[in-house]
Amino acid sequence: MDTPRHHDVVIVGGGNAGISLAAKLRRMGCHDVAVVEPKQVHHYRPLLSYVGGGMATLDDLTRPQQKCIPSGCTWYADHVVAIDPDRSVVRLAGGQELHYNDVAVCAGSQVDWDAITGSEEAVGTPAAATNYLPEQAAKTWTMLSSLTAGRAVFVISDRHVPCAPVGLKPLFLAADHWRRTGTLGDIDVELLVEGPRLVNHDEAERALRAAADSFGVRVRTGATVEAVFAASRSLRVRTPEGTDELTYDALYLAPPHRAPEWVAASGLSDSDADGFVAVDPGTLQHERHSRVWGLGDVATVATLPSGGALRKQVPLVAHNMAAQRAGRALRHYDGYSVAPVTTNRRELLLAEFDRDGQPQPTISTPDLAKPRRSTFVFDRYLEPQIYWHRLLQGNLPL
Ligand SMILES: Cc1cc2nc3c(=O)[nH]c(=O)nc-3n(C[C@H](O)[C@H](O)[C@H](O)COP(=O)(O)OP(=O)(O)OC[C@H]3O[C@@H](n4cnc5c(N)ncnc54)[C@H](O)[C@@H]3O)c2cc1C
Repeated sequence: MDTPRHHDVVIVGGGNAGISLAAKLRRMGCHDVAVVEPKQVHHYRPLLSYVGGGMATLDDLTRPQQKCIPSGCTWYADHVVAIDPDRSVVRLAGGQELHYNDVAVCAGSQVDWDAITGSEEAVGTPAAATNYLPEQAAKTWTMLSSLTAGRAVFVISDRHVPCAPVGLKPLFLAADHWRRTGTLGDIDVELLVEGPRLVNHDEAERALRAAADSFGVRVRTGATVEAVFAASRSLRVRTPEGTDELTYDALYLAPPHRAPEWVAASGLSDSDADGFVAVDPGTLQHERHSRVWGLGDVATVATLPSGGALRKQVPLVAHNMAAQRAGRALRHYDGYSVAPVTTNRRELLLAEFDRDGQPQPTISTPDLAKPRRSTFVFDRYLEPQIYWHRLLQGNLPL
């Protein structure tokens, strides 16, 4: 076994949360930050929706990980396999142990294929796809854009899907494409949403329903897909009215997600947390281990997980780590989150809300919850630049 190493702060995961936090801590004067991240590339994941809708490529959203790790941080290109909070140790797949003063768990969530029987087999066929995985994103648009007649079924799970309402982006981008190419009338578009509504924001919900109506999309909420049968291109769906079988010519999935298994095995979850890191949703400090912090998609933050939510969570965790060390009071996160959803190939609405569904607009005018051209341009073209040049640089005020 390698000699144990010690770092002031160890960050598990170098995605949106991990890199932004590492950079923020460095800005605040923390000298010894280590990031454990196995992937050699970093993805700006929101653009995956535009890849699925034929308006971006994988190249547009990919950077070498080396360029994203903040200068002065130590990078371990390895997987964490366990955290022992009693010994303050992170264990890596390669056998190395890292001791810490504080650890931040930012390992994200993973697609849970087992949650829908047959779904993994289905996305291995040309008639089903998900843009929630980079390797499937381009195929999503190949599948949607080549459909000229038949039934397209879009499924949005309610189980830990990162920024779930953005699963509607490929639907509206495809529907607008079908209308422009004159095929929409020959395509029966079904939307199955597992949750009670499309988005947790009244005004945005009305606008998305109106957009769906304008394209003739049949919307069903409270619809849980139980199984997909790739051979017969059909699926079984349970709705409040009963169980139904539907055939499809194209199937889009925003699939259920789950936490990495080692989180619960390390004793960082609890019976209410579904395998996710059990943090106080206000302070983002672990419920039982005060030097363990959790943020982003891997943590129980009691709101929609999203990159936008991290704009608030990252500075809060950096502040709370320092506050705890100095014996000062911890600050609280109100559950702010965002859902930017295209309503066609030109316009987008931005729903911003807290964990109670109360609107939390960043600016009061114009009303960003209405579909607008300017918001579309911002989301597709400007936000990626802000991500690379500000958010990943830890340029995040509290
Ligand atoms: C298709 C799609 C579209 C989206 N669109 C939007 C949007 O428009 N707006 C928005 O606000 N949000 C959007 N999101 C959500 C947003 O991308 C996530 O909420 C955000 O990436 C979460 O950041 P994170 O760091 O918690 O997780 P991730 O970004 O998933 O990063 C987790 C990192 O941890 C690493 N990791 C995993 N296991 C280990 C381990 N054992 N050891 C070490 N490292 C590990 C992973 O390799 C990964 O790099 C979208 C997400 C997807 C998938």
